[in-house]
Amino acid sequence: MRLKSSKVNEFRLWGLLLTMGGLLLMIIGTVGIVFKWGAVGQVIAAIFMILGLISVMTSMGVYFWAGMLSTSAVILQCPECGKTTKVLGKVDRCMFCKTILSLDPAHAPAEARPSDEIGRQA
Ligand SMILES: [Zn+2]
Repeated sequence: MRLKSSKVNEFRLWGLLLTMGGLLLMIIGTVGIVFKWGAVGQVIAAIFMILGLISVMTSMGVYFWAGMLSTSAVILQCPECGKTTKVLGKVDRCMFCKTILSLDPAHAPAEARPSDEIGRQA
């Protein structure tokens, strides 16, 4: 799996794009009312309003989901840049320097493994 950004940032980006898109659709829809296109304008406005609302609702869902995921995310200090970042799932990227961070013990260098992990494997 290849990610350009960390998962938390990815979710925020999509949430933002959907919100912006939804608001834009609703603004475009009001053009039909502003220019007094009559019944046709009202229908166009209604369609864009509904599309905009769906987009905004979806973005809210994405934000909510991202929030739920963040609560289960592991907060750790990035070994590359030293900043505190969140890791979603087993492999994720640092939110600041995009370094790939893994929670899988198989990827960890031997000296970084917790002692009980080494004890169980021996
Ligand atoms: Zn980092």
